[in-house]
Amino acid sequence: MSGDDANDDRTLVAVANDLPSTMNQFVGFTSKEESDLILHIRRTVLHSDEDSTNDAITASASTLSLAILDFKVERAKQKHAAESFEEAFYECWKIPQEQRPLEIWKIGGECCKKLRVFAVAQRWFSEAIHVCRSNNSDLNVKLEQARIARFFNNYLTHYPMIDIRVDQRGKGIYSKRVISPGEDIFTDIPLVHAQTVDTLSISPACATCTTSLLTPAVYFETTWSRMPEKLQRQIEEYWPPITLVPCSFCPFELYCSETCRQQAWDSYHKILCPSANPETMELFQFCANRQIIVRGTWNSIFSPMILAKLIAMIVLHVVNSVQSK
Ligand SMILES: [Zn+2]
Ligand SMILES: [Zn+2]
Repeated sequence: MSGDDANDDRTLVAVANDLPSTMNQFVGFTSKEESDLILHIRRTVLHSDEDSTNDAITASASTLSLAILDFKVERAKQKHAAESFEEAFYECWKIPQEQRPLEIWKIGGECCKKLRVFAVAQRWFSEAIHVCRSNNSDLNVKLEQARIARFFNNYLTHYPMIDIRVDQRGKGIYSKRVISPGEDIFTDIPLVHAQTVDTLSISPACATCTTSLLTPAVYFETTWSRMPEKLQRQIEEYWPPITLVPCSFCPFELYCSETCRQQAWDSYHKILCPSANPETMELFQFCANRQIIVRGTWNSIFSPMILAKLIAMIVLHVVNSVQSK
């Protein structure tokens, strides 16, 4: 992102605080990507064709003398300054982990970012923060940038009018041009979703597409019957009635249409429906009983149905792919 872009752009959405914290989720996760990167560097830049045995992909554990360490740090800096990012990363990587100074973790992270190996960049910036031992906002920004690139680059390619940026104030989604009224800027389909337990009875929604199943009569409660008929018709004009479609075999799931019912049945409900698996009755009863929601354990942002749906979807996906072979 350039400074000019930032000046031209309009802030679209404020800081996206819902993106989860990153610090612990990739510990031990990037070792293969790092090994692959090192092998790639050895083969393509250094013309060395060592195989992928552990010896070949693990940096030497021997301790370097201070003079050699200084020399290696200097060489990594020079390669980085010369924009030879693969070689610079290799120089950083050759320094044993315990001896890598802050500067080397930073250069390693910068190189990986340039090489677009964002998961490894994240790990190196994270280690830099760890070595730094103080709140370094510059490093935090670099870590977040690597993380955003890792998770969102794919989306940003498909939606070129938006950008996700991070600075000392936090993360935000920005528009890169003026967006016309009604124009879609970003669409995504959740892999799995479930209504939060505390809203199930207050504001029911289609279990497949989340369309609200509230009717004006339910929403206005006793006031509805006392309203003049003309007012009722006016409300209904902007609140078209929905015909509820329950599961054909149980009363626990509601849908807005036959299409949504079938989609739920095919993707997860044929496993979770108590008619097929009576044990799941307990799960539906748990969700229906708001009193058991304990603050901090089953609070309003969670539903155990998410996990149940996810597992059922995986099982059905496997079954379908085995059967189709
Ligand atoms: Zn629906
Ligand atoms: Zn059912």
